[in-house]
Amino acid sequence: MEKLHAIRLKQQSSAPVLAGHPWVFSNAIISDTSQINEVCLVEIFSQDNAFLGIGMFNPRTSIKVRIISKDKNAVIDKEFFEKRLFELDKRKKEFLPDMTTGYRVCNADSDMLPGLIIDRYEDTFVFQIHTAGMDVFRSDIVSAIKEAFNPSAIVERSDIEARKQEGLLDLPVSVRFGDVTEKIKFKECGITFFADVLKGQKTGFFLDQRDTRRKCGELSKEKNVMNLFSYSGGFGLYSALNGASSVANIDISEQALKIAKENFSENGLNINDGKKWQFICADVFDYLADVPIGAYNLIICDPPAFAKSNDKIEQAKKAYTDINKKCLKILNKGGILITSSCSGRLGLEDFRNVLKIASGKAEKDVRVLDTITAPFDHTERLCFPEGRYLKTFVVEVI
Ligand code: SAH
Repeated sequence: MEKLHAIRLKQQSSAPVLAGHPWVFSNAIISDTSQINEVCLVEIFSQDNAFLGIGMFNPRTSIKVRIISKDKNAVIDKEFFEKRLFELDKRKKEFLPDMTTGYRVCNADSDMLPGLIIDRYEDTFVFQIHTAGMDVFRSDIVSAIKEAFNPSAIVERSDIEARKQEGLLDLPVSVRFGDVTEKIKFKECGITFFADVLKGQKTGFFLDQRDTRRKCGELSKEKNVMNLFSYSGGFGLYSALNGASSVANIDISEQALKIAKENFSENGLNINDGKKWQFICADVFDYLADVPIGAYNLIICDPPAFAKSNDKIEQAKKAYTDINKKCLKILNKGGILITSSCSGRLGLEDFRNVLKIASGKAEKDVRVLDTITAPFDHTERLCFPEGRYLKTFVVEVI
């Protein structure tokens, strides 16, 4: 792909790009782009012709350009990706907690590689391509990962709905390099986990909840824990290894619970001790209806995104209110709820308000112990609030 076109922005639209915002919408552009009918690289200039960056142009989407470099001389090729990925990985390793080998190397637009997610589990790399602009660079990306990291395997998980908006098809899961026959073992804060990089959800593990899982561990001593939407048991395992009296992991997916059991076993816990460690395949909404008040004193509620589109927000707020009301009702005084929302369309303050309403409906007075978002490797840029999606409140019934 060559740099074909120069695109000029309205004067007031240059400032956000200069400040680091990675997107240009069609209404920011003064140049006539009607002749550009293909995905391509473009150079962006201010109205008075100052160079602002190189971006990926897509004629089909309302985000017309996604910025990939601020360097006028950058050539977007294998070496470019190799250098960027190596630097990203190096910088992220500096801040990772000890004994952590599973983390996000590249967080797409927030790491100025638009539409490209790369998660690392030890030496296995799993990538996703969300945008048509990035899709063109697949082979450069694979080669760059090989050169930069000498990986044991590279897997592509572009089996994602979001690609449709970009005019792309979702792809079958593909091993692009090396052999992956089994789940990949990695560490998070010294705890061993398996990521099912071929069949698991996301890239195999929810790396974005690391900070919340650590907090959960800190609060777990002598608690009876109910881990709702447990997936592979992440929160439950932090609880179990930090002195919880019992943990019930509840998920609708048999496959997720199978890995949860393997994760517990791998860390030396006896999964046949059904009094302490439970793995329950159920729909959380049904399950909650039968839980007696006071049965648990630490509840984790980490559901899938309820607001998947803008017209679903009100419906989603009701669903979040309802489930959090149910959780709070179960808790007696001193009980703790760790509750998350990964719906990007529901902001932190919206979610706080949802919880306020839920606590009122549950007739519980509740204080906030902590608010937590995605960890630093899921880079958040202040100039780009659109990149935020995950927020968690840790609250206590008083
Ligand atoms: N807390 C997890 C991630 C949760 S992802 C972690 O830290 O790893 C959401 C999970 O909810 C998925 O595993 C999915 O299988 C499960 N799920 C979705 N709908 C459900 C329902 N109605 N009842 C129970 N589990 C559900």
